[in-house]
Amino acid sequence: MKKLFIDLGHGGSDCGAVGQSGTHESDIVLFIGKELGELLKGYEIDVKFTRTSDKFISLSERSKIANDFKADYFLSIHINSASDKSTRGVEVWKFSNANTKLNSFSNGLCEDVSRIFNIRNRGVKLSKEFSVLKNTKMPAALIEVDFISNIDGEKDLKVSGNIKAVAVEIRDNLVHLFGFEKVSSDILYKVCIGAYREKSNAVNQVKIAKDKGFLDAYII
Ligand SMILES: [Zn+2]
Repeated sequence: MKKLFIDLGHGGSDCGAVGQSGTHESDIVLFIGKELGELLKGYEIDVKFTRTSDKFISLSERSKIANDFKADYFLSIHINSASDKSTRGVEVWKFSNANTKLNSFSNGLCEDVSRIFNIRNRGVKLSKEFSVLKNTKMPAALIEVDFISNIDGEKDLKVSGNIKAVAVEIRDNLVHLFGFEKVSSDILYKVCIGAYREKSNAVNQVKIAKDKGFLDAYII
């Protein structure tokens, strides 16, 4: 059976980036990871996580566990942060362009996740600096799902419907990477309230819906 390693960033004494309202990156990636774990059940993929609770694991341990597991692919999940609080968007990082399957996975993932929040696709980037990308022996990618330093980003990442939507997009792209067809059992019951030419009207309508208790309302 093909093997997949999911690395959930930070944890324990290392909470990662912190939003302006105090949300921890380590908690958000754990929520995404838990949803993703559920969504990957039923596929012929042997999945291993670095952590399934709020605990500290060093960077070197993370790649060692993945290498010992002999994973076919490695995906690390993080939330971004910037000193410019207006910044939003999705990025996917890789060590190199060597693996064409991983390249198209990374492009697709970046595009699909950016669409959930209607934010910028900041693109797939290369870095020799990320420890988990440098020290893993299998094709590896790292996603930065939006910026927790942006107040709207932080708010969106606290909505359970958005966490689920991110997990679904990650799952769909992973399933495609492993060459499986995706199952169509994730039924979403969609309710459309309106379509607006002015973005501010759409933003306002979502705010009204959220204030009324429809916490997973979002703009398409
Ligand atoms: Zn991080």
